[in-house]
Amino acid sequence: MPFFREGMFKADCDVCGVRFDPVQGGVCTVCKRILCRTHLHGSLARRLKVTLFGAPAVCIYCRVAAPRDAVGQGAAR
Ligand SMILES: [Zn+2]
Ligand SMILES: [Zn+2]
Repeated sequence: MPFFREGMFKADCDVCGVRFDPVQGGVCTVCKRILCRTHLHGSLARRLKVTLFGAPAVCIYCRVAAPRDAVGQGAAR
């Protein structure tokens, strides 16, 4: 799979199609789409939460769909 070619690992955002460095964005744990920083996290605060505190990466669209904002935050199960 050419996706993981070393040194060239870039991903395209599923929403805006922008090519980004995967450390900037990621995969939504809900819809499994690959999204850029803007469309995955939306805000810097949210991004830090995911990066520093291990909060689940949930894209801005899935968060709107589940506004409780409790998705995977320990409330489930
Ligand atoms: Zn995007
Ligand atoms: Zn999503």
